[in-house]
Amino acid sequence: MARYTGPSCRICRREGTKLYLKGDRCYSDKCALNRRQTAPGQHGAKKGKLSGYGTQLREKQKVKKYYGMLEGQFRSTYDRAEKLPGITGENLLQLLEMRFDNVVYRLGFANSRKEARQFVTHGHFTINGRKADIPSMTLNVGDVIQLKDKSKTSDKFKAISEAARTVPSWLEVDHEKMEGKVTATPVRDNIDLPIEEHLIVELYSR
Ligand code: SF4
Repeated sequence: MARYTGPSCRICRREGTKLYLKGDRCYSDKCALNRRQTAPGQHGAKKGKLSGYGTQLREKQKVKKYYGMLEGQFRSTYDRAEKLPGITGENLLQLLEMRFDNVVYRLGFANSRKEARQFVTHGHFTINGRKADIPSMTLNVGDVIQLKDKSKTSDKFKAISEAARTVPSWLEVDHEKMEGKVTATPVRDNIDLPIEEHLIVELYSR
């Protein structure tokens, strides 16, 4: 499946905000945004005022990058959100949060969404005891995510298990067993990202 393979920090510089794409490095002094806050490229230092369309476009690009998605997949997620009852912007964020790779990241089983995606495609996790290796799968309330026994012996996962991060209230985790459960559908207040989802709805409604 297609994915962006270029430099991650360049994306943060383009959006002018931390997107936390590189795990631990993002929380350290080594973060590229601490050193250079201009957009990449020859004219990156020039800052013009964005038009309404430009603001909406940048917001959409930022959210896409947060979740490591390309346009086609993001657009089809938006189309699904639009068909669901309720507020389209919130539905979109819910669908993004319920992605398999995002849940693995939120459970603290990976240091970034990019790493979570890699773990999933490499088949390290199961859902409800069954093989699952598609990062874009939408999980449901009650789904149980487990690290395979074979993977538990790896130093990487041992370190992750010991680090034991706190998880959002809509998830439950047992770090020792490396097992997590989706206990609820996340509501807007549970999603701690600085996103103005109404701008995305406005963009796609043009
Ligand atoms: Fe973005 Fe992380 Fe790079 Fe900082 S270190 S610019 S947050 S990807």
